[in-house]
Amino acid sequence: MNVHDSEGIAGLLEADGMVAAADSDAADLVVFNTCCIRENADDKLYGSLGMLKRIKDKRPGMMIAVGGCLAQKDRDLVQSKAPWVDVVFGTHNLHRVVSLLDYAEEWGPVTEILEESEDVTVVPARRDDPHSAWVTIMIGCNNSCTFCIVPSVRGSEISRRPGDLVREVTDLAADGVVEITLLGQNVNSYGRDLDLGGRSTLFADLLRSVGAVEGIERIRYTSPHPKDFREDVALAMAETPAVCEQLHMPLQSGSDRILAAMHRGYNADRFLAKLELARRHIPGLAISTDVIVGFPGETEADFQATLDVVAAARFDSAFTFIYSPRPGTAAAEMEDQFVDPTVIQDRYQRLVTLQTGIGLEINETLVGATVEVLVEGPSKTDAGMRSGRTRTNKLVHFPGSTEAGAMVDVRIERAAPHFLIGALA
Ligand code: SF4
Repeated sequence: MNVHDSEGIAGLLEADGMVAAADSDAADLVVFNTCCIRENADDKLYGSLGMLKRIKDKRPGMMIAVGGCLAQKDRDLVQSKAPWVDVVFGTHNLHRVVSLLDYAEEWGPVTEILEESEDVTVVPARRDDPHSAWVTIMIGCNNSCTFCIVPSVRGSEISRRPGDLVREVTDLAADGVVEITLLGQNVNSYGRDLDLGGRSTLFADLLRSVGAVEGIERIRYTSPHPKDFREDVALAMAETPAVCEQLHMPLQSGSDRILAAMHRGYNADRFLAKLELARRHIPGLAISTDVIVGFPGETEADFQATLDVVAAARFDSAFTFIYSPRPGTAAAEMEDQFVDPTVIQDRYQRLVTLQTGIGLEINETLVGATVEVLVEGPSKTDAGMRSGRTRTNKLVHFPGSTEAGAMVDVRIERAAPHFLIGALA
């Protein structure tokens, strides 16, 4: 979501006549699009602003803007901590960035934070990758997970109308895009807020509608909420050829006690039943997840329950996080706030070791298979290699000079926990 917002900011600035600078030393304008999901975003932002002050002292005409979730949360605090920042804008008025910069140039520093969005404002995105695009289908979240700051900085759910989304995807296909990722904080509740003459348009319908757009070969989405993932979506995924066999299903914890404290709305058994449902309908499905270690009050037994669910779930990959309290969330006020850091680090390592082994075992089953890869470009570490993704979102490296955007068949020769190596078939 944040990356796509950055594309939108870049698109607005380009439409206003600006061009990307090579680095911040040479830039007339630096925009920070912040995220406050993790604790160190604050430190990083204020550290970076401190470094930029030295450049701005030498070149007073340089402008600095700060937007995104952290700006939404910190509001006036940004300019009181860093008075050399020219513009502060939030998550609900990203589309106003150019006007706010014009205002600041004329009148001086400005902070503009809106409480809510009235609608989803679509801005022209500047995409680095001509073949893949993000498509925001909804903003906000109506859930109240106790560890999460998102509802307070992104507001309530607002869905875009299905016709507008199909039009946007059709335009992207005409522009050469072959892969789209539908974005929302909780895509399974897409459409529930829309009044479409008594008909509720649900996420499953949307998958089928965008799946029918000619030229779009791969559709992904993020993220579903396990409590809201139902059979209609699994069926739509299975029956729509363009929808990839990939699902990101955030577990967060395997302990029923911790899941209740997180307000996640499911327990371990129900979570595993959702995976079984999805796998039953979608052959070859790859599933990734998010897990938090060290939530307030997490005991060794709670953590063992997480390991048990991770072992049973057999995720292809997992994003693992050490819990950090976010001020303004219910979890930050809970007792037993701090599990011993050494204990947390030990649990984190055990989780990573378990998941790495499972990821490797799953990837090893692909050795000898031929997989379809959408090429992203040269490998980041070896210019003689190309990198791309399978439909299941696995990273594949192979030798050659195939152009980005090509769809090629690669025969897998070697597996690692987080990537595959192969050769053009
Ligand atoms: S579903 Fe929960 S974790 Fe996801 S954005 Fe909403 S409140 Fe945050």
